Amino acid sequence: MRLVTFVQDGRERLGGLIDDQVIDLAAAHQAYIGGYHLPSTMRAFLEAGPDAWAEAERTLAVPDLSPFARPLSGVRLLAPIPDPPKVVAIGQNYLDHVREQNAPVPDRPIIFTKFPTAIIGPNDEIRWDPALTGKVDWEVELAVIIGRRARRVPAERAYEHVFGYTIANDVSARDLQFSDGQWVRSKSLDTFCPLGPWIVTRDEILDPHTLAIRCRVNGELMQSSCTDQMIFRIPYLIEFISRAFTLLPGDIILTGTPPGVGHFRKPPRYLRNGDVVTVEIEGIGIMSNLCRTEEGSE
Ligand code: ZN
Repeated sequence: MRLVTFVQDGRERLGGLIDDQVIDLAAAHQAYIGGYHLPSTMRAFLEAGPDAWAEAERTLAVPDLSPFARPLSGVRLLAPIPDPPKVVAIGQNYLDHVREQNAPVPDRPIIFTKFPTAIIGPNDEIRWDPALTGKVDWEVELAVIIGRRARRVPAERAYEHVFGYTIANDVSARDLQFSDGQWVRSKSLDTFCPLGPWIVTRDEILDPHTLAIRCRVNGELMQSSCTDQMIFRIPYLIEFISRAFTLLPGDIILTGTPPGVGHFRKPPRYLRNGDVVTVEIEGIGIMSNLCRTEEGSE
């Protein structure tokens, strides 16, 4: 399944994507199947577990869903999960990215966080105050969506806890990142976590470590690699993280970025007002966000 969060009558709704049509899943389920309350938001849907996911699949298999379909081009998409319990991010996790920095290969995952308030949708603007940061950079990343609570999960069972995948841009203020000495502020500015455009469920991606991953700025290719470059792969990350703390349904793991970020280019290149950043992962999709500087904004 491909699942979105869209806005209807000012409220977020869970949608299923069929070609270029967004299906209101809860409403269609009630009309055609019934006997079960399908949650109408992504977070509640993930928390409801496998029964709800099976009901969504049944709904999307109904032959004619046109009364509950709207063209994708005519709806406002939010981040597929606008309000995850937490975002866990991994630094220095692509071998080719580590080499580009002449940095040592880490012997364990480097974990940091982005606050959920940084999340924006696939068509929203990345904004920052130029008085706060002048070194805003891009990082395309494969984002793992947790479906089942995970605590002390061994790697060989890790995929049972994965609901699906989406694309994230781990936007980073490099000046704050390196002057602060740790990364949370630089990574958590409001709007610094574009997420989307949709979630692709785990069953549709046979191996998440074979996917082409790219980032363009104003159409110019900046990052181009493959998720096979990950040093610590998804099962190991889930084992490592869940030994330390509980992963909840709706939590997001950003799995690191390949080389080609602006900070390590020669000369360095940072995002400017009016730039468009486009991130793309094979088998998932593509997402573009416009950049805006805002004098005096927070
Ligand atoms: Zn990152």
